Amino acid sequence: MGDDLPLLGEAFAVELANSDHRSGHEERDFLAAPDGVAAWFAHAPAAADLVVPAPLAPEVAAAVRSIRDATRLLLTATAADSAAARADAAELLHQEARRAAGHLALDVGGAPAWRLHHEGDADDVFRAAVACRAILFLGGDDVRRVRSCARPTCPMLFVAQHKARRFCHDTCAHSVRQARYYRRHTSAT
Ligand SMILES: [Zn+2]
Repeated sequence: MGDDLPLLGEAFAVELANSDHRSGHEERDFLAAPDGVAAWFAHAPAAADLVVPAPLAPEVAAAVRSIRDATRLLLTATAADSAAARADAAELLHQEARRAAGHLALDVGGAPAWRLHHEGDADDVFRAAVACRAILFLGGDDVRRVRSCARPTCPMLFVAQHKARRFCHDTCAHSVRQARYYRRHTSAT
């Protein structure tokens, strides 16, 4: 289980946005049910240190989907998207982030690192932690490097650490090359 999840090992916000394939040819939402949300968080490397409430209440799963939708909208926002829609998406993230009190803590055990820590009800802590991670990425430097996969039917986003990267995965690059090869060899006859 987990092998069929659309996980690329990207940053949390990008990986979360990639759980929505409703715009792809499969028209699938991997977070449609609480079971799906729990499975996604259990397998996504970027979510490894988040504590998922068990059992996961339907309203918490729905909140995670809303955070995902807002994150995806903000990641894919183009000139065509209205500023009002972006403001609404940001406000949803803020409301979720405010559900639990958070503070920054310093880890000094190994290599120095900071982490965001939330306190309170487990459901609220989870929702706030998911929203804060999305906000941290959306307001960071890497957000400018987010690209859509160049395969037309692929809904995946990725962080282009190298300018030349055009596909989310080798399988997409391969299928586009194959389609091009097929077109060339069928139109020649
Ligand atoms: Zn792709």
